Amino acid sequence: MTEALAPGAVIGILGGGQLGRMLSVAASRLGFRTHIFEPGAEPPAGHVADRVTTAGYDDEDALAAFAAAVDVITFEFENVPTAALDLLEAHRPIRPNRKALAVSQDRLAEKTFLSELGLTTAPFAAVDTPDDLREALGRIGTPAILKTRRFGYDGKGQARIMTPGDADKALVDMAGAPAVLEGFVDFTCEISVIGARSVSGQVTCFDPGQNVHRDGILHTTTVPAQVPATLILDAVLRTGDILNALEYVGVMGVELFVTSDGFVVNEIAPRVHNSGHWTQNGCVVDQFEQHIRAIAGWPLGDGARHSDVEMLNLIGDDVARIPEIATDPTNAIHLYGKADVKPGRKMGHVNQIIR
Ligand code: AMP
Repeated sequence: MTEALAPGAVIGILGGGQLGRMLSVAASRLGFRTHIFEPGAEPPAGHVADRVTTAGYDDEDALAAFAAAVDVITFEFENVPTAALDLLEAHRPIRPNRKALAVSQDRLAEKTFLSELGLTTAPFAAVDTPDDLREALGRIGTPAILKTRRFGYDGKGQARIMTPGDADKALVDMAGAPAVLEGFVDFTCEISVIGARSVSGQVTCFDPGQNVHRDGILHTTTVPAQVPATLILDAVLRTGDILNALEYVGVMGVELFVTSDGFVVNEIAPRVHNSGHWTQNGCVVDQFEQHIRAIAGWPLGDGARHSDVEMLNLIGDDVARIPEIATDPTNAIHLYGKADVKPGRKMGHVNQIIR
């Protein structure tokens, strides 16, 4: 533990949403302090952090002051502007590293990296012009999905192309942004692996969870996933390959489509992940503690699953069901302290212990 952060050290977190909030709670349980950098006012993480800087990612003075006030920097979302990262990295280590961020910020770089590692992805092609799209559709065929290369999340920045006649409208939906065409994967279910790697290169994964989406947003994650044990083992081992190839430090989410031939990697998220929230009540050490341990230079904890769990996201008005959900004493309730209820907004989640 030569590189381990000292007790009381300050962990800087870029982004003050629910992930930053739950990371702050985990950091404080391990004796660290946290400092949130977030452009928006009243961030959920601010309620439980030691300090909050409210400033934009283009505010160089605020970024430099933030970096000077922390010992290590991590993030709760992958779309931090490159210039801000350059400035921060000149002062303090950023964990996970820039390579992991660069790969996951751009769907083309991500798919290229994954296929070079020997993993199966959906067939893909870069699309910048109507000609590119015509050519890509000729090779990949329909149905297909056109996605913006950057800044997509929860199914945003995507257009389905069911027949070649949908192509023009799909391109208009990209609003001029560089895009990637992906062949449609005929999957039986979606699973995700939450993996972790420490500074010394130790690797571990939580049991893969099975995900159900509604309106493009994660609805439930259930563990164990109902897929063959050989596929689970393969998914876990391949997640280890991804973590090692990136010399990654921290927790990563890997989303996979399960098909009749095995699995296809959809995307990687270089951070704690919504589909890993079940670990809070299904494991001794959850994804948030695991991430803090990793970036603090600690050994990883035991993430073995002691309970089967269904995690249910509370989106928008779902949060009004809390009084009823609370009548079941086995429901572990996690709320994010967000005052405004908006459609599609993640307000909290419930971990229901199945057994
Ligand atoms: P993403 O933003 O890439 O995670 O996509 C959001 C959701 O759209 C996924 O969880 C899938 O349900 C669906 N989806 C995305 N890409 C594909 C694909 N190539 N084939 C089939 N479904 C997809």
